[in-house]
Formats: sequence, structure tokens, C-alpha cells
Amino acid sequence: MTTRRPPRAPRLARVTPGRRSPRLGIFGGTFDPPHFGHLALAEWARVELALDAVLFVPAGEPPHKRAGTSTAAAHRLAMTRLAIRGNERFRVSTLEVRRRGQSYTVDTLQALARAHPGARLHLLMGADTYATFGSWREPGAIARAAALVVALRPGSAGRRAASGRRVTWLSNPGLDVSSRALRARAARGRSLRYLVPDAVARYIARHGLYRRARARRPRP
Ligand code: ATP
Repeated sequence: MTTRRPPRAPRLARVTPGRRSPRLGIFGGTFDPPHFGHLALAEWARVELALDAVLFVPAGEPPHKRAGTSTAAAHRLAMTRLAIRGNERFRVSTLEVRRRGQSYTVDTLQALARAHPGARLHLLMGADTYATFGSWREPGAIARAAALVVALRPGSAGRRAASGRRVTWLSNPGLDVSSRALRARAARGRSLRYLVPDAVARYIARHGLYRRARARRPRP
């Protein structure tokens, strides 16, 4: 029997004279759980903006959510890894999960800029998230560090929410799926099939996530 190696994550091309700078999408989220709305947004941005790679960054302790209300970061990280499987341009960063305390986008972008010198960073988000952008820590510094890329999302104001900042709006189809609705479905024992990748649905079932207030931590 031959064992096939999983596809290697693409390396960002080195910055060399005459060669265009690598273009990196940064996609932060709670991913509790990751779903096809997230994946479609990331793929749409990758294609429309000719990104070399999209880095999914699961939040450690998201500042906008109440402490202790999210599923353990280890589960969210594991599900995000399963969700991106099969797309060789998608990768997962553990940067925020490993960081102690709250995660701020400005810190993450500065760390990624240091890790990928010369890369052009694009910060991906849905329209609902962009609507809160003005209240984030150091929005000006964020907008200087990365191009802002906003995806349409059903139920959220579209381009009209633009605030005079330079933003690239994606012409993605709005998929009306949210993690919150999926958690509610899972809590009632309903199927998540065709809303999340099968591997994610299996992980949720195996670990009994969203069935009770607090799920077990994954075994190492
Ligand atoms: P919750 O329902 O728990 O608030 P969520 O579905 O919004 O979660 P997050 O992990 O909080 O998922 O979102 C990460 C990013 O993905 C955010 O910028 C959000 O706007 C965006 N996003 C999530 N779902 C969609 C969707 N269906 N279409 C477009 N953007 C989305």
C-alpha cells in the first residue's frame, strides 16, 4: 500500500527584485465552529485578490466575546485545521491561541508583518465585523498594516456601512450561516451536514461539543 503525503503548505515566495510581493490573507475569528461561510469568504478573497495564501487565525480569548463563553481554544484550533484540509492555499496560525490574555488584531498583524517581511497583508472579515471596526484597538494602525477586505454577509449592512476608510468589498455570495446558529442546532441534536465540512461535524459529534455548557478538552 502506498501512503500519500498530505499536500505541503505553500511557502510564501521570497521577496526578490522584479518579483511581486507575496500577498497574504489574514482571517481571524472565533471559529466556534468553523463553517462553510468562513471557507467561502476565504476562498473568494483568495481568488479575487490573487492571494498566495490565507492564514486562518483562531482567537485565543476574543476581546469582543465574554470571557469563558467560547469553546476551549484547543477544540476550535483542531476544528479549524480539519476545516481547511484539502485547500493547499489555506493555513492555520496558532499565534493567538498561544498568546496569553486577550487577542488584539493590531498585535497579531504586527507579529505577522515581522514573520513575513515584505508580504502584503490583507485582513479579511465579514460586514458585521467591519461594522464594529471603529471600536477596535488602534484601528488606524491596523489599516496601515493591512488592506481591509470585507465580505458581504446576510443581515449585515453592505457597502453603505463604509466609513471613508479604504476597503475592498468582495462580491461574494452571502451565505446565511453562522456559528451561533450551528451551536444552537448542535445543542438540539440537529445535523450540521452541508453547513460545516464533514470532518468538523464528526469532530463535534465525537467530542460532544455544544451539547452541554462545557465540553471536555480534547485528549492530547
Ligand atoms: P458567531 O455566530 O459565534 O458570532 P460567526 O459565524 O460570526 O460566529 P466568527 O468566527 O465570529 O463566526 O467570524 C469570523 C469572521 O468571519 C468574521 O469577520 C465574520 O464576519 C465572518 N463571517 C462569519 N460567517 C460569515 C458568513 N456566513 N458570511 C460572511 N462572513 C462571515
